[in-house]
Amino acid sequence: MELAVISGKGGTGKTTIALALAELAGNVVKADCDVDAPNLHLFYRGKDLVTQSFSGEKIAVVNKENCTACNKCGDVCQFYAIQNGEVNPFKCEGCGACVLVCPQKVISLRDEKTADVYVTETDKGIISRARMEIGSEGSGKLVTKLRDNAKKFAQENTLIIIDGSPGIGCSVIASVTGSDGVLIVTEPTQSGLEDLKRAAELCRHFGVLTLVCINKYDINEEISEKIEGYCIKNNVNLVGRIPYDDMVVKAINNLQPIIYFENSKANQAIRQMWHKICLYLNSFGK
Ligand code: SF4
Ligand code: SF4
Repeated sequence: MELAVISGKGGTGKTTIALALAELAGNVVKADCDVDAPNLHLFYRGKDLVTQSFSGEKIAVVNKENCTACNKCGDVCQFYAIQNGEVNPFKCEGCGACVLVCPQKVISLRDEKTADVYVTETDKGIISRARMEIGSEGSGKLVTKLRDNAKKFAQENTLIIIDGSPGIGCSVIASVTGSDGVLIVTEPTQSGLEDLKRAAELCRHFGVLTLVCINKYDINEEISEKIEGYCIKNNVNLVGRIPYDDMVVKAINNLQPIIYFENSKANQAIRQMWHKICLYLNSFGK
């Protein structure tokens, strides 16, 4: 069973909440699929059981010996990534158009390493995670790899909590598709509401059980009400209203999950929300 925690954009408290839920769930496998900004593992100590190189992109390479500098490659490249057979690796998207037009047949596509992939064993279970190469972008393929690695280490009926990427791009789609439920973490701002609508639309498109949590709901109760109204109107399940709480910052600074701060208002609200999430996941028979 997989629960993906996503957000319409970064900075909503998604990882804080994913981490708290993972701690409440106890025996879980975690997949840090926020591949451009992975930080779930910072909260744990552990050792890497698996380390793999991951190639998620292709890049053009030119055998210069027989290149005539005709620049047919430069004329066809939509990304201004090649000129007279000289490739700019930071611009090349690996589309292969130059390969097709080169009269000398001296261009080929090479697999490009984009990340190192790890399975880390911690005292609180397995984390599947990645570290991107500088200049590389997270991709759906990489997220799928991380989910596959998590599944390999999950026993039957073990919950996998996915800390997904923000936004609605390929990485998020790869986090959401095939999961048993998605929790969208939003915040009460106008942009937060618009981001939530896009994320909820994406989940609806893929037919995934969609749950919503408003983080720091009390910093703008007017917009929180609009978010609630949107959820009711669109049959999206609002499961949590987390209040603003200074202790969350303290918890992050100490690299401790918020659920271990007993007097924290956020902790109490997250615990209530977890109870509701369990009911939803169970009622969907998954
Ligand atoms: S199209 Fe081929 S031969 Fe012409 S410049 Fe590019 S790499 Fe060289
Ligand atoms: S593979 Fe595509 S993006 Fe890369 S240099 Fe060739 S045409 Fe340009």
